[in-house]
Amino acid sequence: MRIRTLAAGVLAAGLVLSACGKEGSPADNGEGGGGGDGDNAAASLSYEVASDVTVEGSPAFQTMTDRGNPIVGVKEDQPGLGEKDAMTGEFSGFDIEIARMVTARLGFDPGDIEYKVVPSAGREQALVNGDVDYYVGTYTINDKRKEQVDFAGPYYVAGQSLLVSADNEDIQSKDDLQGKAVCSVSGSTPIQRVREQGLTENIVELQTYSQCVTQLHQGEVDAVTTDDAILLGYAAQEPDALKVVGDTFSDEPYGVGLPKGDDALREKVNDILQDAMDDGTWQEIYDATLGKSGIEAEMPTIERY
Ligand code: GLU
Repeated sequence: MRIRTLAAGVLAAGLVLSACGKEGSPADNGEGGGGGDGDNAAASLSYEVASDVTVEGSPAFQTMTDRGNPIVGVKEDQPGLGEKDAMTGEFSGFDIEIARMVTARLGFDPGDIEYKVVPSAGREQALVNGDVDYYVGTYTINDKRKEQVDFAGPYYVAGQSLLVSADNEDIQSKDDLQGKAVCSVSGSTPIQRVREQGLTENIVELQTYSQCVTQLHQGEVDAVTTDDAILLGYAAQEPDALKVVGDTFSDEPYGVGLPKGDDALREKVNDILQDAMDDGTWQEIYDATLGKSGIEAEMPTIERY
């Protein structure tokens, strides 16, 4: 269990900074001219595009190579992690930067990524169908999901927590949820945990966390539950209206979702994530996104299976 030490205002300031684009970026080290005209051109970090990459025996890599760019599944409504700017159409956040970095190290220009927004409940199917080549969006690695998809990583470990109105004094921890209306998302591990642990009978199940946050604002629900990393992003946007309470009560190791059985790509992405942790890139990404909260970065250990 981690003790929450977040100054929400600091994260809010950070989100504004990263939304401005180049603030705090390392020098452009050659993302290539191609990225300049794409929708994602103003993302805050640059990555060197690897050349002559081969991933022998990977069907997904072959598909991306034939197409000339990857289709990456993401979230669009999770500030600090995966968020689409309504004005510019640009995506930003920790997950987005992980996706851009992996893409560059697979030999594709991150500016050429086609982002496909897939909510939690649609992730396995999107990978099974080949609608996305890989998925980066607060996607917890677990055995049930491994029956349908594979994972590289983890590249981060979050934990389940609670978001309530800033003036709520009743709910301090998961033990205070009995009889309360609690919102979470279809196909997510947090909603499953609320059910399994019988935390409340009054569960409101929606498709996205931003829909849950709207319900919270309208007083339709008393709390929203999911990963702390996600909830802290919402609280940071409206520190006067929302707060995250209590210690985390699960481990949510985030993986890059991959088509099942593509062992060559899984190995390759694991190598890429490990290298990024070893060479300081992971830290740069963290510092430019989630790390703005002031929470100390904890680099996870890659689990090769
Ligand atoms: N990490 C959890 C999960 O994969 C919750 C966040 C999400 O729904 O994306 O289910």
